[in-house]
Amino acid sequence: MKLHDIHLLDLFDVGTEQGWLSMRQQRMVVHSAAAVSIMRAQLIRSLGQDAARAIVFRWGFAQGYFDAMMCSDHLASLQPVDRFVFGCTLHTMEGMVRVAPKVIEAKGPGKLHMEANWWHCAEADDHARVFGAGMTSSCWATLGYASGFGTYVIGALILFEEVACRCSGAQCCSVVGNDLDGWGDRAAEIEARYTLAGETSFSQQWKEIHAECEHARAIGTAAASAKSAPTATVTTVNGPDRTTAPLNFVVCSQAMTDLLVLAERVAPLEMNVLIEGESGTGKEFLARFIHEKSMRGDAPMVAINCAALTEGLLESELFGHARGAFTGAVRDKPGLFEHAGRGTILLDEIGEMPLCLQAKLLRALESREFRRVGSEKVLRLDARVVASTNRDLRQQVQTGAFREDLFYRLGGFVLTIPPLRERREEIPALAHYFLHSTARRWNKGVQTISPGAMRCLMSYSWPGNVRELQHAIERATVVASQSVLTVKDLNPEVAGRLGDPAPDGDLDVEANERQLIEEALRRYHGNRKEAAAALRISPVTLWRRVRKYGLSLS
Ligand SMILES: [Zn+2]
Repeated sequence: MKLHDIHLLDLFDVGTEQGWLSMRQQRMVVHSAAAVSIMRAQLIRSLGQDAARAIVFRWGFAQGYFDAMMCSDHLASLQPVDRFVFGCTLHTMEGMVRVAPKVIEAKGPGKLHMEANWWHCAEADDHARVFGAGMTSSCWATLGYASGFGTYVIGALILFEEVACRCSGAQCCSVVGNDLDGWGDRAAEIEARYTLAGETSFSQQWKEIHAECEHARAIGTAAASAKSAPTATVTTVNGPDRTTAPLNFVVCSQAMTDLLVLAERVAPLEMNVLIEGESGTGKEFLARFIHEKSMRGDAPMVAINCAALTEGLLESELFGHARGAFTGAVRDKPGLFEHAGRGTILLDEIGEMPLCLQAKLLRALESREFRRVGSEKVLRLDARVVASTNRDLRQQVQTGAFREDLFYRLGGFVLTIPPLRERREEIPALAHYFLHSTARRWNKGVQTISPGAMRCLMSYSWPGNVRELQHAIERATVVASQSVLTVKDLNPEVAGRLGDPAPDGDLDVEANERQLIEEALRRYHGNRKEAAAALRISPVTLWRRVRKYGLSLS
C-alpha cells in the first residue's frame, strides 16, 4: 500500500453508537490544550521538574506506542520510511505539534535515525507562558510520543531529544531520535531523564508500557464498547481453589495473539465453542473474552465447574429444580441455564461431567429446551454454551467416558490455549504485570525482578501455568524485602538450582557446568531443545557437553 492511499481521517470514527470518538475501535479521550497545560503545571509544581518530566514523557510515550499498535496493519503495508511519515502526520492530527520530518533513516532491524522540526508545539508555548522562557527542552509529552511511536515500529527502544526548543527562543523545536546504539555514550544520560527515583532504567518501563498496551488491546478495555460495559453480570460457581476474578492476561506471544484473533472471529457466530488447555492457562478468561465480544455481551455470563459438584447437585444447578423435587428442595429454584438467559454459560471441566448428565445436556442442546428437575414445564434454552476442558476429550470419547455426539455438539469450534512453557516469551511481561499489581495491592516497594530470579522463572516448567506463575510472583512480592525481587524470594521449587551462585569454595567451572546441565536435563525430562534454551546455549553445544561429561539424556 502507498502512504497516500491511507486516509488518516478514516482511522477515526465520530459516529460510534456509544457517542464518543474512537480510533480503530479504540476509545479516544479528547482533551483541550488548556486542560493538558494545567495538568502539566500541576505535576511540575507538586512533584518537581524531574519527576514531572519523566511522567509526562511516559504519558506521551504510551500514546505514541498505542497509536502505532492500533495502526500496525497499515504500518506493515508501508515502506519503512513511510511508516514514520505516517506517524508524523498522525501526531500532528492529534494536536500537540506540527511535525516536519527532515531525515528518516530506518537502517535495518532495531535501527533508526530521525531528525525533524516541530512547529507550534503546544508544550513549548505553554511552558514559556507559565514558567517563563529559557528551558532548553520543554516538550516532554511530544518527545514521548515520537519515542513511543518509533519504539513500536522499530521493536527496540528509540529515544528523541530536543536540540533546540521554542521555549528557549528558537523559531521551532528541532529534534533528533536514535536507537540506543545510535546514541552511543549518551544513551544512559538520555534514558536517565525518563527514569524515576528507585528505578533501574527506562528500558524496563518500556516493557511495562508494552504489556499494558497489549493488555488494553487484547481485553478491549480501551475499546470499552457497550458490549463490555459493566452491565454484564458474571456469576461464578466456584469449586475448591477457584477465584471469582478472571485471570489477568498479558498477551505478547504470537501464539496467544493468534488465538485471540481466532476467538474474536468466532465470538459473534452462534457456535458452541470448546476451549482446551491445561489447568491455569486461562480458559475462563478466554470464555469471558468470547462472551464480551459476542452479540450476547450485554447479557449475563455464568460459569460452573462440573468437577466441583456431585451429579445431583450439578444437575439442579444447571437445570434448576421444582419445590419438592428431592429432599431439601423447599422452594422452586431456577438453574444456570435460566440465569444465563440469552447470555453465555461456561461449562468448565466438562470432561468430568457424569455420563447420565451428559445425555441430558445433549438433549437440551439439540432441542434448545429443558425442564427444571421435578417439573413438567418446558423452558427454552437461549444461552450460548461454551465448554472447557483440561483433558483430552477425544481420548475420553475413545474410552467411553465422554459421549461422542456431545463432543461434536460442543466442539463446533475448538480453541486450544498453549501451556505457559510453550510461550515462555510471555513470562517476563506476565511476571512484571503480577509483580506490579501485587506491589500496588500490598503497598510494597518491589519494582523489578533480578536477572537471576528471571532466569529461574524462565527455566521452570510451570505445570500450573499462568495461575501458578501468578501465585509464585504474588508470594515472592509479599516476602521480598528490597525493591528488587531476587532468587531467595522465590519458593524453592521455582528457584531450583539454576539461579543459585556456586556454593562457597566450589569454584570449579566444569563441576558447576555439569551440575547445571544435569539439572536442566532433569527439569525438561531430557528434552534437548528445551534444556538448551533454558541454559541459553545451542542444542549442538549442549550435545557436546553431554558427551564431554558422559551424561545421559533420559
Ligand atoms: Zn520544544
